[in-house]
Amino acid sequence: MIAFEAYKNCSLCPRQCGIDRTAGHTGICGETADLRIASIGPHFGEEPPISGRQGSGTVFFSGCSLRCRFCQNYDISHCHMGQVMSIDRIADFLFALWKNQKVHNINFVTPDHFLPHTLLLTEQLREKGVSIPVLYNTSGYMKVEVLVDLQDHADIYMPDFKFADPDLAKRQANAPDYPHIALAAIQEMVRQKDFLDVNLNERVAAQHGVFVRHLVLPGYIDNSIQALDLLVRTFGQELPVNIMSQFWPARQQKDQRLNRRLYDHEYAEVLSHAEALGFQNLLLQPL
Ligand code: SF4
Repeated sequence: MIAFEAYKNCSLCPRQCGIDRTAGHTGICGETADLRIASIGPHFGEEPPISGRQGSGTVFFSGCSLRCRFCQNYDISHCHMGQVMSIDRIADFLFALWKNQKVHNINFVTPDHFLPHTLLLTEQLREKGVSIPVLYNTSGYMKVEVLVDLQDHADIYMPDFKFADPDLAKRQANAPDYPHIALAAIQEMVRQKDFLDVNLNERVAAQHGVFVRHLVLPGYIDNSIQALDLLVRTFGQELPVNIMSQFWPARQQKDQRLNRRLYDHEYAEVLSHAEALGFQNLLLQPL
């Protein structure tokens, strides 16, 4: 199992920085081995089976190993907004969310560069009697061998599949290998947990499984169409997919295409392609 020692010569993610985070060094994710948290609380904006009626017990981790230039949570991923917290304190917060607010799950948002901490945290929560599903909400840019170690800790995976186009992945995240790495990671997640156990449109708390998120980028409809093609070819029509329309320019972008929101006709084009491919468990969003 990946242990705290993994931070000493960090290769937790495909960036393989090889630096000692326990000595205070930072790699591409920008975080040392001190666990930095941006926020903890109930979240009602996730998919209906994740937020349910009581909310999702969400932990936002500071920093990010993928660091897309257009990140929708730029302050957290690039500017490292947050504070260093102990596992005990986070476990206390999450315990209270479960006990008092009756959240449906524990939702780790962008935990990829803090996985050893998440394993310890999950174990502590189980010891406290917290029995709700644990959810890994990731960029999809993950190593299969690391995912194998999450198998007994994760119940639900909600990976992004952001880029099918390696050139776009290179320009936006300096990760031309994103498409094949994310696809292999999602394959491992599906091998472990199968598809989400409920329809993405139902407000019934999911217990296990995988669904994929894809954010449609303005001016990059071809990327979305290729992404859906790859997903259906790899996983079939029953893969649950959330096609997200909410892109907004969180900061001024060098790429002028990304300095606006999505047009209606762009989203409609992606949706009609998804429907033509025959996806059976799609979550669509209003613009
Ligand atoms: S988790 Fe951070 S330091 Fe470790 S390999 Fe990934 S980007 Fe580099």
